[in-house]
Amino acid sequence: MAGVSQEEVKAAPAGPFPLRVPRPYIARMKRGDPGDPLLRQVLPSSFEWDSVPGYVEDPLEESAAVADAGLLQKYAGRVLLITTGACAVNCRYCFRRHFPYAEHRQAQHFPALDAIRQDPSVREVILSGGDPLMLRDTHLARLLKAITAIDHVRRVRIHTRLPVVIPKRVTNALIDALHSLPQQVVIVLHFNHAAELDDEVDAALAALRPFTLLNQSVVLQGINNDADLLAGLSERLFAAGVLPYYLHLPDAVAGTAHFHVGETEATALHQELTARLPGYLVPRLVRETPGLPSKELVAG
Ligand SMILES: *Cc1c(COP(=O)(O)O)cnc(C)c1O
Ligand code: SF4
Repeated sequence: MAGVSQEEVKAAPAGPFPLRVPRPYIARMKRGDPGDPLLRQVLPSSFEWDSVPGYVEDPLEESAAVADAGLLQKYAGRVLLITTGACAVNCRYCFRRHFPYAEHRQAQHFPALDAIRQDPSVREVILSGGDPLMLRDTHLARLLKAITAIDHVRRVRIHTRLPVVIPKRVTNALIDALHSLPQQVVIVLHFNHAAELDDEVDAALAALRPFTLLNQSVVLQGINNDADLLAGLSERLFAAGVLPYYLHLPDAVAGTAHFHVGETEATALHQELTARLPGYLVPRLVRETPGLPSKELVAG
């Protein structure tokens, strides 16, 4: 692995959230640089064992609701469908590190869709996980067809990091399946750093260009908590046809305190972005607070 000794990788904690990183993502790391921002997102660290007050396994109080039906509605007009618990990469800062049902899958007949059919207030269905692009194209196509056959559903949205870590996952079959849908498709990607984009990723994003492409990032200590880096990310994303959407404050997930960036620092970063960039390249700074009717806007 780039920049990290065999010993370090071997010392990485195994357990419930092991090291998991696809080769195309490794190929973008700078060799010999232990501070590489891609490496830091995926390499387990001994800090993960630190117990820090305020950091809990399920800060969003989601696991019960999700495990129940694979369907999560917190906000008006849109529901989040947990298509699978699997991801192609294990991002060390992710809340998913504690999810007990990591390989949970929607059954072939998509029982969660019944609840959507019965609720005409649902305008948008968000495929999430895990990562919905972990599903096979045939399975995904069938799921999308079933969702878009529901009259009151106007949009489908896909939250995915797969085009980032394995750009070849953007197959012709996937593009065809998305094209065949009568509704608009929104794809929310997850890039945290401009170094995550290369020619292969650009090609994947070009193939996805017919759809609305947005990005959400997490502001992470030692990875992207820097105005130059975040401004560079926005510029790089726009060049690839992607608009910045959200910049999330990290959730207070146990084992991730070393990635913490506080509200004061994040707000200052956001102000710098606002001073430097056109408004459409400044993501909204948000945090997730249980019980609110939307993500909590920290700075717009
Ligand atoms: C984040 C989230 C959404 C999407 O929120 P938007 O502000 O529409 O992007 C929807 N449902 C749940 C449960 C969420 O956590
Ligand atoms: S859900 Fe997203 S952030 Fe979390 S491990 Fe999967 S790809 Fe990474």
